[in-house]
Amino acid sequence: MKRAVFIDRDGTINVERHYLHKPEEFELIPGVARALRQLQDAGFLLVVVTNQAGIGRGYYTEDDMHRVHDRMHELLDPEGVRFTGIYFAPEAPHQPSERRKPAPGMLLDAHRHHGINLTGSYMIGDKRIDLEAGWNAGCKMSLLVRTGYGREVELNEADQLNGAPVVNDLAEAAAWILKNEGLA
Ligand SMILES: [Mg+2]
Repeated sequence: MKRAVFIDRDGTINVERHYLHKPEEFELIPGVARALRQLQDAGFLLVVVTNQAGIGRGYYTEDDMHRVHDRMHELLDPEGVRFTGIYFAPEAPHQPSERRKPAPGMLLDAHRHHGINLTGSYMIGDKRIDLEAGWNAGCKMSLLVRTGYGREVELNEADQLNGAPVVNDLAEAAAWILKNEGLA
């Protein structure tokens, strides 16, 4: 069965910008392309799982988000990075949702759509809700990156991280996973 690395978008793949919705403001965090490629080459499917509450709040539209994703593809395609899926939860925090992280819905959908073995899969993100989504879905492990909000989370929510590995960025997360799997 296939395994995946689930990856949060804002603050993990791209530089965190408050309610990012303009393609020209999408900026990859250094080392991300290579890290994704390494995970992919090691046999992991790459699945983006992103909360987009700005849609539910009416700050921007789903089309705006797709344009941002087009930009992401434009930057990563030349590096050979292929996402198996990009899942998003458009609900605002007060709206009921089985998909909005920390709920595991997006990961479970990906599991159903692509035959992903969750217990062999990893989740990477910059917020505790990312880690929780991975735990709630039954992933092997969730990792926190210090990019985006990660540094603050490490400082302020250390007692709620359940011993999750904390690494500097996605590049380090990829290296950590490959080492953990005996693939590096
Ligand atoms: Mg994030």
